[in-house]
Amino acid sequence: MPPVVTAPKPRNDPRARRQQDEWRRDHPGDTYHYSIDEVHRMVFASCLDDASQADMQKMLAAQIDQQAATLFEAPPDTEIFVAVATPADIKKIFADSPTSAGMYEHPRRRIVTGDIGTVLRHEYTHAMHFGHMERLGQPHVMWVQEGLASLYEVYELAPDTSIRFVPTERHNQARKAAANKRALSLAQVVTMNPDEFMAKSQSLYPVVRSVFEYMADQGKLRAWYKRYVDTFAQDRTGRRAIEDIFGATIDEFETSWRAWVLARPAVDVAVGRGDRNVGVDIKAATDGVEVTRVARGSAAQRAGIVAGDVIVAIDGTPVRSPREWTEATAAIRVPELAITIRRSGKRSEITLIFDAQANAKPRGAGEHVLVTPTEFQRAEIRGGFLYKVQFASES
Ligand SMILES: [Zn+2]
Repeated sequence: MPPVVTAPKPRNDPRARRQQDEWRRDHPGDTYHYSIDEVHRMVFASCLDDASQADMQKMLAAQIDQQAATLFEAPPDTEIFVAVATPADIKKIFADSPTSAGMYEHPRRRIVTGDIGTVLRHEYTHAMHFGHMERLGQPHVMWVQEGLASLYEVYELAPDTSIRFVPTERHNQARKAAANKRALSLAQVVTMNPDEFMAKSQSLYPVVRSVFEYMADQGKLRAWYKRYVDTFAQDRTGRRAIEDIFGATIDEFETSWRAWVLARPAVDVAVGRGDRNVGVDIKAATDGVEVTRVARGSAAQRAGIVAGDVIVAIDGTPVRSPREWTEATAAIRVPELAITIRRSGKRSEITLIFDAQANAKPRGAGEHVLVTPTEFQRAEIRGGFLYKVQFASES
């Protein structure tokens, strides 16, 4: 008998609010502000400004609704505490594992995250999934937990809740694994215990994300997950659900998956010949990437970007971490690009202009496009906020 799941009644569980109190006590001062979204049952400690906080809550609400509608049947029945921490606090919290930028701890109903993009979407998926597992009484295996969390790292979500999962750098690693037949076997991966799986997490996260991307691409993700839940008592590895839903052995499924991965082009993550270079060095900020250096003569410098600016979006799409920045900027071929920066609490949109960069020379007085890079920079700094400047040589 498949387990019966009834929509969970909200439980009065004090854990998330207790975590919020603890965070407040451990972080005196005004770095963090505290809020509660009663509708989506989220309890926050956050270092974000109002605009980024609002963006984040909107994003999470949409993700919760989408996942409740398609996979996990309902939002978590208890509140979840979300701490959006500064890079300095992240460093302290993850001192023992410097590559981590986020975690979800189910017993405390607590997420700590260093960015409000990839990492938060991953961790919130864990929170949703744990809620479902607990209601079902099913401890799902690691490849399923991490595969789904990784799957939701980057997606495009339409208002009707239809979703497209976007290939990331993980796709490139999955391609490498798929090209090497001896490197892994899915039949093996699905039987791994948590220790075995985590020992190979570097190479397995991209693979399991890719397997779920493939299922989603075939329109079978939802059916697979439902079958997995329904047959969990007979097979907790997920293999049987694959074989039932895809009508193939797991080895045949693996062969189709490999062909599918290899047929999709790699994601361009290197600035190559013909690509435009923004011309900045960056480091992680919580809601974007902070500019640490601006190259002389670059599009960024001519647009007035200075060290300390935080870039939060490119062409209207949020960019929340160095990884998202790399994926968004490694293959720029357009002559202009709008970016959104945050500086001293204010946001502004700036157009980077790549064409005829260094050679642009201002013409004589009286012409309608008359701006030198220095004048442009000065004008920008004085507080104009939407720019589009044409250099004279482009006419
Ligand atoms: Zn995870």
